[in-house]
Amino acid sequence: METELIRRTLARLASRFDRRYWLLHAEAGTHVEELWRALGDEGFLGVTVPEEYGGSGLSVSRLAVVAEALAEHGIPTLFLIVSTAMGAIPLVRHGTDEQKRRFLPGLASGASKFAFALTEADAGSNSFRLKTSARQDGDAYVLSGQKAFISGADAADHLLVVARDAATPEGQRPRLSLFIVPRDAPGIELHAMDIGIVGPERQFMVFLDEVRVPAANRLGGEGAGLATLFDALNPERIVVAATAVGLGRFALAKAIGYARQREVFGAPIGTHQGIAHPLALARTHLELAALMAHRSAAAFDAGEDAGMYANMAKMAAADAALEAVDTSIQVMGGSGFTKEADLMSLWPLVRLFKTAPVSREMILNYIGEHVLGLPRSYAR
Ligand SMILES: Cc1cc2nc3c(=O)[nH]c(=O)nc-3n(C[C@H](O)[C@H](O)[C@H](O)COP(=O)(O)OP(=O)(O)OC[C@H]3O[C@@H](n4cnc5c(N)ncnc54)[C@H](O)[C@@H]3O)c2cc1C
Repeated sequence: METELIRRTLARLASRFDRRYWLLHAEAGTHVEELWRALGDEGFLGVTVPEEYGGSGLSVSRLAVVAEALAEHGIPTLFLIVSTAMGAIPLVRHGTDEQKRRFLPGLASGASKFAFALTEADAGSNSFRLKTSARQDGDAYVLSGQKAFISGADAADHLLVVARDAATPEGQRPRLSLFIVPRDAPGIELHAMDIGIVGPERQFMVFLDEVRVPAANRLGGEGAGLATLFDALNPERIVVAATAVGLGRFALAKAIGYARQREVFGAPIGTHQGIAHPLALARTHLELAALMAHRSAAAFDAGEDAGMYANMAKMAAADAALEAVDTSIQVMGGSGFTKEADLMSLWPLVRLFKTAPVSREMILNYIGEHVLGLPRSYAR
């Protein structure tokens, strides 16, 4: 599907499921199920899934266009990130034929949703310290541990859980593996976290107590855990970047409209360069970030190592989106703080992208070490 067609179709969809619809669900903490099904019906959730499994071919580039356009209409969904990107893409690249047949058609249609469970309170950004372990027991694995901040765990039917090999000898870097775990498997408990993000998806602590998962649910071959994990994390960064760009444009559109009509000293405030220039700068930074997001998507689709571009895109887009929202609030004066302006409601989600899914500092560490070749400043 061409970019323009995707954008036109999504604009039509966004008039049915508009920002008001999204805010109602965001404030209630309920999932935007009708929007999700409509996205599935129109084929947008299948853009990362090959045709033989009900999709239209693996393309992170198209997914980035979808994410950007939805956010531009003020209706972002984190499930596009944690399910369509982080669920489907590693499955396509690393799943067995049986896993693909079992899970991909549901992900492509929207009938099924994955949440992604990596973060743990004690490990933080250092994933090699995560404690959730997987012990092989006959033709099954037994998973135990605790995950934190897991978005949409209540609305997902499966969790993609990252666990360490329980047999890792003391003092050695653990081998990590991903497991497709039914959300209602015995031994799983969810505790909702109180997070100040306005959005339909809530965050959960996920407790895994001796959860038995068939060995057929391990994603990625023996020892391929890291490659599988990064084929989830890089698309996540790309789709987050696209979402941030879209949200930044959504905010700027409001401020630009306001700057055109608001008169204080006998002329629209947009006449003043003190108002026009920050808006122009913010727009420029958003478009630069958009280029980087699409460059990283193209690199991923071409099978190249997309790590550098994906990290840079996420960081640039988060910064640009924050600048756009902050500038928009400033341009609208006191009105920028009203509920009607609907800018303050954007702030937490846009701000989140500076910290998650990977923090600005960890991206700079990555660029310093892996792109610039500088020595690492911290130990694992
Ligand atoms: C709303 C929300 C939704 C989320 N959804 C999910 C999800 O669905 N699935 C999931 O697995 N996780 C999810 N997360 C977790 C998120 O990815 C992490 O919070 C994020 O990666 C940061 O990790 P941390 O909170 O452990 O921070 P920490 O690792 O404790 O870091 C704290 C601060 O120290 C800095 N820091 C740490 N080490 C270094 C260093 N070596 N050099 C410089 N600075 C450093 C960090 O950059 C950060 O600023 C979510 C989080 C939030 C808030």
